[in-house]
Amino acid sequence: MRWQGRRGSSNIEDRRRMGGGAAIGGVGGVGALAIVLIGYFLGVDLTPILNGGGGGMIQSGPYEPTQADEEAAQFASVTLADTEEVWADIFQNQLGQTYEPTTLVLFKGSTQSGCGGASAQTGPFYCPVDKKVYLDTDFFILMDRQLGAGGDFADAYVVAHEVGHHVQDLLGILSQAQRGSQQGADSSAVRIELQADCFAGVWAYHAQTQLGTLEQGDIDEALNAAEQIGDDTLQQEAGQAVRPDSFTHGSSEQRERWFYTGYQSGDIGQCDTFGTRDL
Ligand SMILES: [Zn+2]
Repeated sequence: MRWQGRRGSSNIEDRRRMGGGAAIGGVGGVGALAIVLIGYFLGVDLTPILNGGGGGMIQSGPYEPTQADEEAAQFASVTLADTEEVWADIFQNQLGQTYEPTTLVLFKGSTQSGCGGASAQTGPFYCPVDKKVYLDTDFFILMDRQLGAGGDFADAYVVAHEVGHHVQDLLGILSQAQRGSQQGADSSAVRIELQADCFAGVWAYHAQTQLGTLEQGDIDEALNAAEQIGDDTLQQEAGQAVRPDSFTHGSSEQRERWFYTGYQSGDIGQCDTFGTRDL
């Protein structure tokens, strides 16, 4: 993705210097942090691969971002700005509505959200209570090194997926789906997640056609990321049996397919994961 030197979003809340007990390296030592999640919470569930992965060091006090951190933050900010541009346009032209942007909270280690405490283990998520996206940019490192989902557009896909939850929130889809089942291959939770993947694909289509920011290989990076964070793949990587009745985000095949459905059409009307017979 072409992002260097481009405009970032003003809707960034940077809490990285507040410290808060970071797990050095971003992924170790999470077992030492109490994770209290209240309310509805839409993130990448890393529990399968992070359980029992303790042993890291706990850092406390103020934190000074490294150059790599700053680059990751800048990348997230430019990606967020691109989502604002694309979704403002879609809301206006396809829905006749005004898009209200979300705020992206950047943190390091742990922080508080309207949906409870966040840490490296929770992964990036959207909280509908305060309408903010939470991201510890160390997650990008984890994706690259531990999940086999490298490349800048893999990271962009994650940001776009979380923004997709915000779009669902604005459209009233999230509050409706919250009343449904929260686990299982056919659950509301999985349908919500696959739709967010589809919305990320819709965004990618418009980033390409409207902004011209995609580069060769970007879509493959996003598809690979979708594959690597599918419930079945995460369970397998953790040495567990694949149990569709415990799915919360959808299988690798589903996540790839719904991202691609959005990307091919650029039309949110193609993202009806609730009405389809072919989830
Ligand atoms: Zn999600």
